[in-house]
Amino acid sequence: MYKQDYAKNKTFKLVYNPPFANNYARTLLLLDHGKGCYLFDADGNRYLDFGSGIAVNALGHGREDLAAIAAEQMKKIVHVSNLYTTEPALQCAGRLMHLGNFDAVYFGNSGTEAVEAALKFARLYALRTKGEGHHRIASFSGAFHGRTMGALSATHTPAYQDPFRPLVPGCTALPYNDVDALKNNLDDSYAAVIVEPLQGEGGLRSVTPGFAEALNSICREMDIVLIADEVQTGLGRTGEILACSWAGLNPDMVTLAKPLAGGLPLSAVLVPERINKQINVGEHASTFGGGPVTTAVAGAVLDIICDAGFIKRVQEAGEHLHRRLKEICQSSTLAKEVRGHGLLAGIAVGYPEKDAKLRMGSLIEKLQDRGLLALRSGTNILRIAPPLIIEKDQIDEGCDIIAAVLAEETEYVPRRQT
Ligand code: PMP
Repeated sequence: MYKQDYAKNKTFKLVYNPPFANNYARTLLLLDHGKGCYLFDADGNRYLDFGSGIAVNALGHGREDLAAIAAEQMKKIVHVSNLYTTEPALQCAGRLMHLGNFDAVYFGNSGTEAVEAALKFARLYALRTKGEGHHRIASFSGAFHGRTMGALSATHTPAYQDPFRPLVPGCTALPYNDVDALKNNLDDSYAAVIVEPLQGEGGLRSVTPGFAEALNSICREMDIVLIADEVQTGLGRTGEILACSWAGLNPDMVTLAKPLAGGLPLSAVLVPERINKQINVGEHASTFGGGPVTTAVAGAVLDIICDAGFIKRVQEAGEHLHRRLKEICQSSTLAKEVRGHGLLAGIAVGYPEKDAKLRMGSLIEKLQDRGLLALRSGTNILRIAPPLIIEKDQIDEGCDIIAAVLAEETEYVPRRQT
């Protein structure tokens, strides 16, 4: 049994020592339900959602339309494996292929699985077109690609990687946005370069136009597969269907996940013909990936998100959010800089580096106590990724809370026992 300290706290909303492995925090907020951009905890307190379950719930909470599609599909058929297929999977793949010049879609269940598949497909392509010895994978400082061993090997953050060495061989870290480092390091021993157009976890920095152009041209010249990891940025989050459009990246493959199935687990790799031709039956697979329920919901999500009017509203909401965040930076000495693009935005908080992580944790708790759920990116970036359906007055509501909490910030006092 997990310990729920009702007596001391007279509250149900905080769970202490949940029966989950110790990789997750020892105190968790117990959420009960949601509607639109709001979530409600077990005590009935309301929270404005500026995090979307880490950039997942793009269409908000409590969606009767998506719930009905999932329920209908569950009654019809839930799972068939990839030995067979279903109409929702075919429809969803068809829609995704048309997001660019792609020939096929590979479905997984999580972001890290999409990354694993993309890296493996790039290695297959290099092996089949160039022979052995062209297997290396380049990724960038500050990147986050996932926690399974392949994706982790391309996520060069010591805290994530060091306890799990040895990692997959042949994975190199290059400095993000450093064109010279690309020119000096990439050669035909590389199968793939994987890049985030905007680093969601690593500090909300975007590729510069010059870096994007250099990536495009070097990868094209050397026939290195360029993978855009749009697990966090994809499907409208940054004000375009794919962030690659404003970032100026021309990737060969794109990974998608978080918002794809309205909160259900589904990821996708968009694969061009030239790479798809090099993949043989049985060389990669997933039992659950692309099942009928997740793909049925994803089809509806894509219909909504890929509508020009929807994207225009996301852009307007993004502009409003950035305006409000700039105002916060003008009024608070702690708020140093606005980062991000569209509805994946943030504020660099000027805490001293040595205790920035602790103080960010405390800041996020204070926001939570005032009814706002937000995220961290890097060490000191307050990350904001609301549902894409957020209204301007809700953006104002959240920004007012951030401004008020930052105005009260003085020194760090540890508050919650974990
Ligand atoms: N790539 C990117 C860009 C991500 O932001 C994430 C998750 N934050 C992942 C991959 C891994 O996704 P998942 O946690 O679903 O495996």
